[in-house]
Amino acid sequence: MKTLGQAAPQGMLVRVMCRQREKAGFFVASDLANVNGHGRSFESLKFRCKECEVVDCGAVPFEDDRDRVNKKRIVWRPVSM
Ligand SMILES: [Zn+2]
Repeated sequence: MKTLGQAAPQGMLVRVMCRQREKAGFFVASDLANVNGHGRSFESLKFRCKECEVVDCGAVPFEDDRDRVNKKRIVWRPVSM
């Protein structure tokens, strides 16, 4: 799994981790695909950490655990940069 276009149809999430603080945020892969393009690889995605004001975040795809309905996640909305 390398691109947003591969992850989006499977309803996957993308975890974005700030390398400065190791704080993670979550995106829906299809949201990111709409904004950044389906051909974008996870490695090429750039995110600005809202707290550190630096672009030093790593993005990795992961499968949403649908069984855990009680677990709430904050899902970020993508913005074009
Ligand atoms: Zn940060």
